[in-house]
Amino acid sequence: MFESLTTRLGSVFDRLKRRGALSESDVGEALREIRVALLEADVALPVVRDFIEKVREKAVGQEVVRSVTPGQMVVKIVHDHLVEMLGTASVEINLEAAAPVVVLMVGLQGSGKTTTTGKIALRLKTRERKRVLMASLDVARPAAQRQLAVLGEQASVPTLPIVTGEPPLAIARRALQTARLEGYDVLMLDTAGRLHIDQALMAEVAAVRDATKPTETLLVVDAMTGQDAVNVGKSFAEQIGITGIVLTRVDGDARGGAALSMRAVTGQPIKLIGTGEKLDAIEPFHPERIAGRILG
Ligand code: GDP
Repeated sequence: MFESLTTRLGSVFDRLKRRGALSESDVGEALREIRVALLEADVALPVVRDFIEKVREKAVGQEVVRSVTPGQMVVKIVHDHLVEMLGTASVEINLEAAAPVVVLMVGLQGSGKTTTTGKIALRLKTRERKRVLMASLDVARPAAQRQLAVLGEQASVPTLPIVTGEPPLAIARRALQTARLEGYDVLMLDTAGRLHIDQALMAEVAAVRDATKPTETLLVVDAMTGQDAVNVGKSFAEQIGITGIVLTRVDGDARGGAALSMRAVTGQPIKLIGTGEKLDAIEPFHPERIAGRILG
């Protein structure tokens, strides 16, 4: 991720650092180049505008122009604002609630939602020693419930037995009841996706949310879809209320626009990133490390 952005910013900063002194117009030109680099990385336009404005306010000040190492100061300002844009700290899944803690997984079809449900369940089981139950509420796609059961077998995480013909809300209620009675720590609910956002999907997810009162509502989005992922994030944040984002297919995303825009647009942090198809290919999202990687 971020390969071309890293290269582009690297050359802007190299030029700045080679200069002994910087005038306001040098800084202005560098900011124009940074703006183009961010737009080419597919960062959302309002996010780019806001970023450039904040960096400009700091960088055009007398301090930079008078500094003996002005180039380095500009790099530091850009770094600090990148971290701010990405979210200052790494945020893990919140399990601070009475058991069973409900984690609701939402997103569009094909985003990697079911795979990510299995990945998180395995992670909570192995790292946090939690007893996790998974249930698929996806009755729209016939193979979806079976797919989650197969992932459960691979991860050795139990899944709610499938009852053919049962509607999503009834599955959610049965899952919650089972998790309570059998003493599970965490219940992960994999909701149905659609190819596009529609009212039926939102109404279904909202009904499940109201019935199960999730501690976490995690939106799964495909990083490779760039601006579309950001728009999906905005819709879910406004209509459902999410608590965090899992960005998948980061392993195939060279530009990184979704990763850079998501927090600013949805107001919620990226908590985890998917880095491959295997069940252990998931990592926490570290804003500091990402900013460091972008700036080389
Ligand atoms: P869903 O329709 O949202 O439930 O999506 P699936 O979980 O079925 O995932 C769709 C495809 O994306 C599957 O082939 C997954 O193996 C793949 N996938 C999911 N997450 C990742 C990821 O982080 N990286 C890569 N390369 N593939 C992923």
